[in-house]
Amino acid sequence: MKPWEANIRKTVPYVPGEQPDKPRMIKLNTNENPYPPAPGVAESLYTFDAGNLRKYPDPAAGGLVRALAKRYRVKTEQVFAGVGSDDVLAMAFLTFFNSEKPVLFPDITYSFYEVWADVFRIPFEKVPLDERFRIRSRDYARENGGIIFPNPNAPTGEAESLALVEDILKQNRDVIVIVDEAYIDFGGQSALALLQDYDNLLVVQTFSKSRSLAGMRIGYAIGSAELIGYLNDVKYSFNSYTLSQPAIAAGMAALVDESYFKETIHKIVTTRERVKGEFQKLGFASGTSQSNFLFVTHPHIPAKELFEALKEHNIYVRYFDKPRIDNYLRITIGTDEEMDALLYFLRDYISRRDAGM
Ligand code: PMP
Repeated sequence: MKPWEANIRKTVPYVPGEQPDKPRMIKLNTNENPYPPAPGVAESLYTFDAGNLRKYPDPAAGGLVRALAKRYRVKTEQVFAGVGSDDVLAMAFLTFFNSEKPVLFPDITYSFYEVWADVFRIPFEKVPLDERFRIRSRDYARENGGIIFPNPNAPTGEAESLALVEDILKQNRDVIVIVDEAYIDFGGQSALALLQDYDNLLVVQTFSKSRSLAGMRIGYAIGSAELIGYLNDVKYSFNSYTLSQPAIAAGMAALVDESYFKETIHKIVTTRERVKGEFQKLGFASGTSQSNFLFVTHPHIPAKELFEALKEHNIYVRYFDKPRIDNYLRITIGTDEEMDALLYFLRDYISRRDAGM
């Protein structure tokens, strides 16, 4: 070991899904939206005055924050915007999880939580989901330094009821509870409805999935003005100018087109339900996904084998070599054509395999 190595912050980083760029690939591995963003987004970029780039952006991303406040019927002081919800969540970990007691999150969940806890030296404990991969609220009725879970959860896609989320809040009035709603627009009930009763609740959402803007990096948090104030103090102690000018403009353009937003979600949800039925016909089991992906397992074909066979055919899905879920595939809902190509391949693969070919 070199002498200076002892002083380095060492951490095991999060591993994002692959971003290969092949001509005819079908990319169903990172829960991106298969449809383009609202037409107004392209318009906002064409008409963007590059001359303005000599100036710093508004550090508060005011235009976007005001538009979000209007859309979600909250005060401007209740909204915080960041560079994707990953940035918002990282800031929230740093701001709100500052206790000696462990932060609680599910054993099967977004794997970035563990990485942030580790890099910020936050103690944490993973709370096992039940055998159907569902959260049990009573498991969160214990001493802790804060709570975070996605709803719907990832990578399972399972959505918990608003009543369950409220149970967790009721049992935890003296810590901050973060509900990560990256997938909420595809199903489930948003905890935003609970904000007026719980000033310790922070709801985090993103433009990456339902608004087709993963490449632009826009996320936000909504909570009590007090919580947002603390979050801003930490953000401004770190990096004042987070969202770029084009990102602020594109986000505002995406937000005004409510009908495009609804139409895109409707298409994805319709495809999801159809494809889920087709997977069942092929013998796969899946839960009740309320997100833009399915989490499936086959009774006799190992998930890892399917993952590799699919990749060989330029179809990318996500496989996690982790306890309890190492026989599952997480498959993002793409266009109908993409999903049909996936099903065609699987039908053929399974029948050949069953025939011993
Ligand atoms: N939360 C969950 C549960 C996710 O799956 C993702 C996507 N990787 C994120 C947050 C972060 O998304 P983004 O930074 O693109 O907003």
